[in-house]
Amino acid sequence: MDLRSDTVTRPTPEMREAMATAPVGDDVYGEDPTVLELEAKGAELLGQEAALFCATGSMANLLGVWLNAQPGTEVVCDVKAHIVRAELGAHAALHGITTRTWVTPDGVTTLDNMESVVSLDGGHLVKTAAVELENTHNFGGGTIQPLENVRIIANYCAEHSLGLHLDGARLANACVALGLPLVDYGKLATTVTLCLSKGLGAPIGTLLASTRENIARARVQRKRLGGGWRQAGILAAAGIYALDHHIERLAEDHESASAFADRVRAAVPNAVSAAIPTNIVVVETGTLTADEVVAAAAQQGLLVSKVAPHQVRAVTHLDVSHDECIQAGDIIGAILRGQA
Ligand SMILES: *Cc1c(COP(=O)(O)O)cnc(C)c1O
Repeated sequence: MDLRSDTVTRPTPEMREAMATAPVGDDVYGEDPTVLELEAKGAELLGQEAALFCATGSMANLLGVWLNAQPGTEVVCDVKAHIVRAELGAHAALHGITTRTWVTPDGVTTLDNMESVVSLDGGHLVKTAAVELENTHNFGGGTIQPLENVRIIANYCAEHSLGLHLDGARLANACVALGLPLVDYGKLATTVTLCLSKGLGAPIGTLLASTRENIARARVQRKRLGGGWRQAGILAAAGIYALDHHIERLAEDHESASAFADRVRAAVPNAVSAAIPTNIVVVETGTLTADEVVAAAAQQGLLVSKVAPHQVRAVTHLDVSHDECIQAGDIIGAILRGQA
């Protein structure tokens, strides 16, 4: 049972069939019909004019942040954001954009959090060019940014001529959990991403959506970064299949995550939070280290990942059944109680 991440999902036979039969062309020439179909579909889904199919979520974030900021300006985000923790400094290393952060326990951000960090100056202090939010929040434990918070922050950004980049790697999880269409969040952002390769189950790919003009610029920069690709329709077909068939079923992953957490809680009441918002469960390992728990679980055929010295993470997804998630919760519970 591999609960390290929802990126480990493999394409289903139906998805592979869609990939095998997809019409393709050279996407650098703008001639891959399947890529064009995916990009049009993604733009509509996210409430934006256009979209760009990128190799990874990191590349889509790199381009999205770049569209909103210039070298020597900064993007502000929370301290556990993927863009500052898990993208290897790319925004600074490649684009000359620095970051500053605010602190929240679980990544859920209010206007006050954000305003405490924004700097509108520019002559003396580094000028904030854009705000970045993550929904759902990965290292925050799959937490959801309430729509109202995002609306208030988007209004602030519009008033102060700041960009708003939404890292929507798992936006579909947030929207399924809330029963809202993706467009409700997507249309509030200047630039927004959606990973096809996480819980949606495609092998590769993330969409970046924005205005037509922004996406035209991003297409050039993607090529500059070496991200232009040719018959990418083979991959886009998997993305289309994922959008058509794998969004609603995310609710099952959320139920499995809650069931996993219930079992851990039954063994050690405070090891996981009271409510699990989506498909990510952060487990406090108490007196054991995260490394010890990861190793003990692996011995029993369960893979989870370390996210902090005393925290491990389990992520549910379409390649693990509800029953397996319950079993996994029992394994972690027993390890934490010192019984395994
Ligand atoms: C996975 C993830 C990404 C992108 O990851 P890649 O591995 O580059 O596709 C971006 N943001 C968040 C919140 C993620 O969880």
